[in-house]
Amino acid sequence: MPEHEEWARLVHDKYDQCGFRLHRHGEWTVIAGILEVSNGPHVVALGAGLKCLPVCAIPSELRHQLVRDSHAEVLARRALIRYLLAGHQPGRLVMYISHSPCGDASMHVLEAPLVKRIKLTRGRDDAATRGLRTKPGRRDSPPTECVSCTDKIALWGTVGWQGALIDETVHIEEILIGEHFDSDALETGINDKSVNKYTFTKYTGLPFKHSRAAVLATGLDERLLVPSSVAQVWYEGGKPETLTDGRKLGSAKPRVTLPVKSQSCISTENIARARGVEAVVGKQKNTKYQFQKKMALQGPFQDWPVSDPVMKSFRDSQSPC
Ligand SMILES: [Zn+2]
Repeated sequence: MPEHEEWARLVHDKYDQCGFRLHRHGEWTVIAGILEVSNGPHVVALGAGLKCLPVCAIPSELRHQLVRDSHAEVLARRALIRYLLAGHQPGRLVMYISHSPCGDASMHVLEAPLVKRIKLTRGRDDAATRGLRTKPGRRDSPPTECVSCTDKIALWGTVGWQGALIDETVHIEEILIGEHFDSDALETGINDKSVNKYTFTKYTGLPFKHSRAAVLATGLDERLLVPSSVAQVWYEGGKPETLTDGRKLGSAKPRVTLPVKSQSCISTENIARARGVEAVVGKQKNTKYQFQKKMALQGPFQDWPVSDPVMKSFRDSQSPC
């Protein structure tokens, strides 16, 4: 079996082994898996989902307790951080995504008119421009402040995928992509902004069974297609989790704070807890990652929406040199 076929199959198989499923008729989703391929490929982190919480749905007290961005790539990256925090030293890492990342890398799907854009752009506005972009979401849904996966993958290619709590820089070398692969859009949307360049490869094997194309191929009327209402996440050493509205499926809607047992293993608070620090302290830790992120925020990522006050004041007060 060719290498790429095997990577995708392993991710598809892990999704099945975790018992993940869709919850309503007509739902589809996107899957992303990160594999360690140095000593026989195996999946170490997995995410499936394509929803983001709208800005208005997140009180500030809950920002570190809810998972705001449940796009598959973001879930898989957070799951990777949990895997790394457990003490694993990964070799060569690659990623498989069943659909091209949202944002500039997949804007051609929308066939929108060409216009220019400089500042942060909302979702699908100003297609075919080259700045940063928030996630598209449904046209009738409230706006989100989550940055597109195209831009996030570009930033991680610059600062590493490991987050602020891990000292050693971790990179993904190659990304295998299923539906809507567009080499030019991936190069300009991601590699033109990223310091470390990714290899992008088109996956041509069996589609992910819950992808948009696969669900449509069952004969379903396109008008009945809906994005999955749940997010699903797993990492090697952890338990499979299903989330809805940024918290564990079945947990009560939080009024003021979200109890630990209702939080996902990949909430910012739980990731910090796995490292033995407070979430706010973790965000402001003076690691190489934070330094490189500050630098990146003065360069191609200067329109990145920043909520952390330390990062904000740094970006606003320093010159690019
Ligand atoms: Zn996305």
